[in-house]
Amino acid sequence: MKTTRSMVLVSSDPESLDRGALDVFSTLQKQITKFGLEEEIALSMITDISKHAMSPLVLVYPDAVIYGPVTADDVPRIVEEHLYKGRVVEEKQISAYDLSGRVAWLSSRKGTMPAENRIVLKNVGLIDPENIEEYIINEGYEALGTVLKEMTPDETIKVIKDSGLRGRGGAGFPTGLKWQFVKGAKGNKKYVICNADESEPGTFKDRLVLEGDPHGIIEAMSIAAYAVGADEGYVYIRGEYGLAISRMQKAIQQARDYNLLGENIFGTDFSFDIHIHAGAGAYICGEETALIESIEGNRGEPRPRPPYPTTAGLWQKPTLVNNVETLANIPAIIRNGGAWYKNIGTPSSPGTKVYTVLGNVNVTGLIEVPMGITLREVISIYAKGMKDGATFKLAQTGGSSGSIIPASLQDTPMDFDSYNKAGVSLGSGALLICNEEVCVVDLAKVLLNFFRYESCGKCNPCRIGNKRAYETLVNISEGVGTLQDLKDLQMMSDQLYEMSNCGLGQTAGSPLKDILAHFRAEVEAHIKLKVCPAGVCPMSGQRIYKTI
Ligand code: SF4
Repeated sequence: MKTTRSMVLVSSDPESLDRGALDVFSTLQKQITKFGLEEEIALSMITDISKHAMSPLVLVYPDAVIYGPVTADDVPRIVEEHLYKGRVVEEKQISAYDLSGRVAWLSSRKGTMPAENRIVLKNVGLIDPENIEEYIINEGYEALGTVLKEMTPDETIKVIKDSGLRGRGGAGFPTGLKWQFVKGAKGNKKYVICNADESEPGTFKDRLVLEGDPHGIIEAMSIAAYAVGADEGYVYIRGEYGLAISRMQKAIQQARDYNLLGENIFGTDFSFDIHIHAGAGAYICGEETALIESIEGNRGEPRPRPPYPTTAGLWQKPTLVNNVETLANIPAIIRNGGAWYKNIGTPSSPGTKVYTVLGNVNVTGLIEVPMGITLREVISIYAKGMKDGATFKLAQTGGSSGSIIPASLQDTPMDFDSYNKAGVSLGSGALLICNEEVCVVDLAKVLLNFFRYESCGKCNPCRIGNKRAYETLVNISEGVGTLQDLKDLQMMSDQLYEMSNCGLGQTAGSPLKDILAHFRAEVEAHIKLKVCPAGVCPMSGQRIYKTI
């Protein structure tokens, strides 16, 4: 993708197609060419617009102008007036308020993310995180008061279920269902754990939530504890996050001083308190059962499942484990209702997602966007295009445990189900955007090197498979790979997925699968032509690792 001044999207849902969206699209192409705007305007179809009376729609970003219904006859005027002369064609313009869901959300932002539309990052950067009063003034602890005074635990869980919130740690499991499992589990003693062991390379969204809004997590954990019947909680924070740990410690003490933690909160019979446990640097402790082992003082190795933590977690008691970003949604859902949340994002993946945007783009950093936005939109609107006019080649999602997304999938809505259908995953929230100077063999080598070091070694497919896959990639990058290596990589990817005990091993083979599926010709060039098309691999002709 080249850096462009504007992006024009044409709705292509079935209704829009029936009403001539393809004609609109092809006329736009011709008119854009006629005015010599091909280098400045990116044009694309957008599928994820629900049925709308004003379709076909034409959306112009970053101006956030929506035209509808647009016919092929309207196009020359829109191109000449708006795209060429910069004047909005008001007679054809419709308001974002006439729409719902993702398009309305996108259009209301005009290329930025105003604070009023944030959920997870609502307070981050706006309030003093070390001052509980600033949190309280900004609707803080209102949701906790509501559930304790006005709602039963079952009603609380119902609101979360109605919202459709899915876990943001990577797997996308329905949060309300998880809460219900813990509430329904037998036992007088239950725990709530906030998984803040954010160790994915390049990901720092949870860190900023903890540093910028620690009371939001305390409030969310308290609501969760009330709903599932827990009286004790842990925040397991990555050990390197010193500022997050100290801010969370201060926040917990402030909440205790205000009787928002401790005995008989809000004068009710609900009591709850939170401890902090700092991790010791093992990536695997982000896996919930390894994390539980670590809190118990054991070596951080995943447990076989079942039983799941919801029935036998910390010290074999029913335990709710939710990730930071998941919890950060809870107070807003309680305040505004499940239906409000469900209207944001896509029907099967409601809400927003926080991404850490990195790589060869003009603007990097943290964004909170509705679920279902596309990579093309992230790059064009938020990252302000590729750096130096480079061409977009791929995105690596989720730190190391996500997928390698090729340019052909840049218009796929980024939500759990659309990505699953496309055979890729969202991961935990990092988006490493890469240009054509990135070599897929080299990228996979870096990722597999990470996994071979971070494997806890408990099971053979992961301990040995990651090492062998890394060695095979090194040989390919040195120009001494064989076509048999490609078959071996595919087999290792399959076996890592099928036979590994936990998520680390199961996702470690994804880079292998992805580069073979989407970039096979580039990988084969390393073997057949002894050439690295991106000019990255050394091609020394030297075999570094011998086949066993
Ligand atoms: Fe350990 Fe890897 Fe097995 Fe997970 S898959 S238990 S990290 S060896």
